[in-house]
Amino acid sequence: MNQPYIGRFAPSPTGPLHAGSLVAALASYLDARAHHGTWLVRIEDIDEGRSVPGAAEGILALLDSLGMHADGEIVWQSRRKHLYQAAADRIAEHTYPCGCNRREIADSRLGVAPDGAAIYPGTCRYGLAEGRSMRSLRLRVPDAGYDVISFTDRFAGEVTQRLGADSGDFVLKRADGFWAYQLAVVVDDALQGVTDVVRGADLLDSTPRQVFLQRVLGVPTPRYLHVPVVRNELGEKLSKQTGAVAVLPGDEAAAVAVLLQAARFLDLPLEKAVSLDAFWRAAIPAWDHKLASLDARLA
Ligand code: GLU
Repeated sequence: MNQPYIGRFAPSPTGPLHAGSLVAALASYLDARAHHGTWLVRIEDIDEGRSVPGAAEGILALLDSLGMHADGEIVWQSRRKHLYQAAADRIAEHTYPCGCNRREIADSRLGVAPDGAAIYPGTCRYGLAEGRSMRSLRLRVPDAGYDVISFTDRFAGEVTQRLGADSGDFVLKRADGFWAYQLAVVVDDALQGVTDVVRGADLLDSTPRQVFLQRVLGVPTPRYLHVPVVRNELGEKLSKQTGAVAVLPGDEAAAVAVLLQAARFLDLPLEKAVSLDAFWRAAIPAWDHKLASLDARLA
C-alpha cells in the first residue's frame, strides 16, 4: 500500500459500549495496527437528543483499559457543526429544503430504506408547496438509471445499490436541527484523511449514500470493511441496551476475557492470553493472516 493507512472507530455515545461495537472497535484497531497505520477515535455525538451524558467518557475509558489507545486527539462531532454547515453550503446546488413530515412520507408508501428510514418520494424536489416551510435539508440523488452506486467491500465483496429506489433523496440536516449522520460521517472521514473504514455490517446499507455524497463533495472514497453484526441467542442485533461490556479499570484478566470473546467472533484463532500485551501480540498477526485470505478472495 503506498498511501499511509488512517483508520477510525466512531462510536455514538448513546449508552455504554456493547459487545457488537466492541467487535467493530477491535476490527478497526487490528486493521490499523496490521497496516502499521494510524487509528483515530471520533465520538459521534451529533444526535444530541440521543447522546447520554457520560457515555462517551465511559467508552473512552473502556477502550483505554483494553489497551486500545487512539493516535491523536479524540474528535467530537458536536463541536464540528460549522464544518458540516460549510460542507452543506458547498454543495447547496445539489440540496433542497423539504417540508414533509414523517407521516406524509410514510403515506406515500414507497417503503423503507434498509436502515428503516422511509423512502422519500421527492415531493419537495422542485420547491416547497405554498404555505409549507422547511423542515429538513435533502440531497438530490440522480434519476433512475444514473443512480447506481457500487463499491467493493473487503468482507462482503461487490455491493450495489440504486439510490433512487433504495433511499430516495436523503436528509443532510434533520427537522430537529441536527446534522444527519450521513453528512457528518462523510465530512469527518474526509477531513481526517481516513483511508479505511472498518465497522459493523449494520452500516453496509448506508455506505452507497456515503459514497454518493463523497462524489458530490469531491472527496475520496475510503476502502470499506464491514464486519458481521453480533447477535444474541434470539438472533437480535445487540443494541446499546443489552450486552454492555463492563471492565473495571485495572482488571486485566477481565479486559483480556472481553477481547478474546470479541476476537472469537471475528474468527481469530487465539489461545487464551495471560496479559493484554500477550493478547495484542497474538491478535495483530492473527488479523494480518485473516486479512491475507480476505484480500486474496477479492483480488
Ligand atoms: N456512530 C456509528 C455507530 O455507533 C458508527 C458510524 C461509522 O462507523 O461510520 O453506530
